[in-house]
Amino acid sequence: MSKFLSKRHDALLAYVPGEQPADMEYIKLNTNESPYPPPQRVIDAVTKDEIKKLRLYPNPDGMSLIKKLAEAYNVEPENVIIGNGSDELLAFAYLAFCDDQRGVAFPDITYGFYPVYAKLFEIPFEQIPLKDDFSIDPSAYMNIRKNIIIANPNAPTGIALSLDEIEEIAKSNPEFIVLIDEAYVDFGATSAIPLMKKYENIIVMHTYSKSRSMAGARMAYAIAPAPLIEDLNKMKYSFNPYNVNRLTQRMSEAALLEESYYTEKQNEIVKTRAFTEAGLKKLGFIMTDSKANFIFAKYPNIGGFEFYSALKEKGILVRQWNKPRIKDYLRITIGTKQQMEALIKAITEIIP
Ligand code: PMP
Repeated sequence: MSKFLSKRHDALLAYVPGEQPADMEYIKLNTNESPYPPPQRVIDAVTKDEIKKLRLYPNPDGMSLIKKLAEAYNVEPENVIIGNGSDELLAFAYLAFCDDQRGVAFPDITYGFYPVYAKLFEIPFEQIPLKDDFSIDPSAYMNIRKNIIIANPNAPTGIALSLDEIEEIAKSNPEFIVLIDEAYVDFGATSAIPLMKKYENIIVMHTYSKSRSMAGARMAYAIAPAPLIEDLNKMKYSFNPYNVNRLTQRMSEAALLEESYYTEKQNEIVKTRAFTEAGLKKLGFIMTDSKANFIFAKYPNIGGFEFYSALKEKGILVRQWNKPRIKDYLRITIGTKQQMEALIKAITEIIP
């Protein structure tokens, strides 16, 4: 830390992304990326001509892509904003809707970025405990008079809320925003996009990073009532108007023509998740009911960090957090069937 860093940031603990070590080829099951490449049409969208056009700024409003997204979800272009990953859209939401008077609430165990932004933007926040089984207790969010962020399915537990439960939360907080982060929705949960047409306070956020095999391109979008999109755009145009680069816009449009490719891969991942769950249960693991492209599992007699380290030594990366309630759990991204077979083999060699 330099002597010039603002005192405001003394207590800021930055988000720590999953490791990307370069010392050897790992089986990488630690950042919930897709094990499958983007479809050919997406690859072909980056033509030499498009690369030559990099001398030009991208279209700041991304309207060509936004119109296609709106069509895909049967909403209006005014209901859509694109962002440089959902992390950026989340930042816009904090900046637009949260302040001293209007704090934010989210689960105590959830995506690690939510508290980081709250601290960075100096927003009061409440972390609402998950139940003992790691599920979200919707009743704890009734009438709380704060903006609410819920990842559905939640991360890193993978447990999903029903649409009815989300609707109850939105209904009981009509003066506050309810942001549903659906980064993992395509692997088995139900999207809240239909609710956005009924409630003026719902924002639904999707990313291309997981089910669309484009984590490296940085692309996400939010769907919300038009006035909320207008507010989010006000933040975008006050921060980084050209937030989604030209090539990503072209690739993202191409991706919208490949729904059947993505559905096939999502189904494959769901099948491999069931295969992995069955294998790990047979070995004595306990786990949550994950509707995401990862599982959240614990082996009774080996600590989380010890298990993570043993797997790393065998060339397999998983994620583990040194946090009280979850320190003995591993979050394991679902890779290909072969990768998961290698994981199970490595685990059999580790456990007594
Ligand atoms: N939300 C959740 C729940 C996530 O797990 C992640 C991935 N780290 C993100 C958002 C961020 O995704 P993106 O790559 O779109 O910024």
